[in-house]
Amino acid sequence: MTELSGERIVVIGGGFGGLSTACYLADAGAEVEVLEKNEQLGGRASRLERDGFRFDMGPSWYLMPDVFERFFSNFDRSPADYYSLTHLDPHYRIFFKDGDSVDITPDLERSKARFEEYEPGAGEALEEYLEESRRTYEIGMEHFVYTDRPRLRDWVDPTVLKNARGITLIGSMQDHVEGYFSHPKLQQIMQYTLVFLGGSPNNTPALYNLMSHVDFNLGVYYPEGGIGGVVDGFVSLGEELGVTYHTDHPVTAIEGRRGGFRVETDGERDEFLPDLVVSDADYAHTEQELLPPEKRQYDAEYWESRTYAPSAFLIYLGVEGDVEELAHHTLVLPTDWEEHFGKIFDKPAWPDDPAYYLCVPSKTDDTVAPEGHSNLFVLVPIAPDLDDSPTVREWYRDLVLDDIAENTGVDLRDRIVLEELFSVSDFAERYNSVRGTALGMAHTLRQTAVFRPPHRSKAVPGLYFTGSYTTPGIGVPMCVISGEHTANAVIEDHATDVPEATTSDD
Ligand SMILES: Cc1cc2nc3c(=O)[nH]c(=O)nc-3n(C[C@H](O)[C@H](O)[C@H](O)COP(=O)(O)OP(=O)(O)OC[C@H]3O[C@@H](n4cnc5c(N)ncnc54)[C@H](O)[C@@H]3O)c2cc1C
Repeated sequence: MTELSGERIVVIGGGFGGLSTACYLADAGAEVEVLEKNEQLGGRASRLERDGFRFDMGPSWYLMPDVFERFFSNFDRSPADYYSLTHLDPHYRIFFKDGDSVDITPDLERSKARFEEYEPGAGEALEEYLEESRRTYEIGMEHFVYTDRPRLRDWVDPTVLKNARGITLIGSMQDHVEGYFSHPKLQQIMQYTLVFLGGSPNNTPALYNLMSHVDFNLGVYYPEGGIGGVVDGFVSLGEELGVTYHTDHPVTAIEGRRGGFRVETDGERDEFLPDLVVSDADYAHTEQELLPPEKRQYDAEYWESRTYAPSAFLIYLGVEGDVEELAHHTLVLPTDWEEHFGKIFDKPAWPDDPAYYLCVPSKTDDTVAPEGHSNLFVLVPIAPDLDDSPTVREWYRDLVLDDIAENTGVDLRDRIVLEELFSVSDFAERYNSVRGTALGMAHTLRQTAVFRPPHRSKAVPGLYFTGSYTTPGIGVPMCVISGEHTANAVIEDHATDVPEATTSDD
């Protein structure tokens, strides 16, 4: 058995990647301190609380419950020790902008019948599609997601190649979905999950058809207290394992010193002297703004040439009364969404006919809004780097609220009692996010697996990275797993052998 022996480790950033890494490292015997820039932990999963309303500011879909089970079980615990889960039914509702709507429910037979209404044979095709997704998920999770393969040669391993046989990994999601469904609405239903990965049907590899297994088969859940409740669970676990957290501690520089690092902050304590450093802050920010040029792995051109996942235009709303037409999760999609994707990835501009997502947690949780009120937020994916001046925001806010009224039948405009906008420049400011991307580096083929930046810095021994820029990638479950990979890299490099504990029977 190998263990760390009290190494002092600073984790920069308290997002899910950082919180997860901190738990694994503390459990392995390190002294871990998390330094977070903002006033609260959770990173993109921050909470906004005002006038009796509480919003999850970022992630709101609790997907892949198996990943959280596995995470907590590594510490002999389970998610239920920290929060309970409600299985949502429907998982989500889609309003197409031609007046049509569809509910995706936990009942596969109902979904098949609904698909059949669009296209004869589509019910069977759905079953086959989901079967392939299930196999891709199971093989993908075991061999490519939970197993970190940092070098290209790790992929030329016969077991990897054998297991990859029979599942569609490359080729675009667009081509993959077209192989099963002709009806454009069915294609949209199978592809919308790509926005979770920050990609479009044309730039995301077919491997990610596994997301349909996630959303149709594994189900969509609401954790008690929202995703913020999950953050609290991770933080409590970390405290039980001995992790110390410092909020309001923005790191301003990482410097080398004999035998370790000097981490400078703008917080109450202005320096920390750890042996090792892990950064969960956005990779580009850490490399370009916290390290001196000679300690960076990548130059400015590298970061310039990446494909970034979308930013988002968010409206957090407290409204009077119920919003009956909406489900907990609702998507509103134009029948032709090419234009919207084009305005994210090809010619950046504010989409005039947006595809967007509405989240109404007060449907499931009566603690998130005062009595007689609803709490909801609207999320429109938009290109990073867009100008989001106050005038633009006001114009776009009106456009989106008009669109909701027209396409869902819910007119929010006269019922708003609380409103906050959050967009590109807020992402840049609050999270030090390059270009204001909401999610980091998109999962294009050239930015997947070994092509993502590594967990170990190649320029600075003792410096590690975790979170969505690294493998496996974007999304809360993936960042939780990235924490495990990063901690494993640290343990592999620094742990020493300790004898196995013996029992009196041995
Ligand atoms: C609007 C939105 C909706 C989303 N929806 C979902 C969803 O429904 N389901 C899902 O699974 N995923 C969703 N995601 C994605 C998911 O939230 C992220 O992929 C994940 O939370 C990122 O975690 P992370 O550890 O990489 O980093 P982050 O959460 O970004 O954490 C990094 C932390 O580092 C801190 N930091 C930055 N610079 C410094 C510094 N210099 N010093 C100290 N600290 C610093 C930041 O303040 C931040 O707290 C969503 C994201 C957004 C933005």
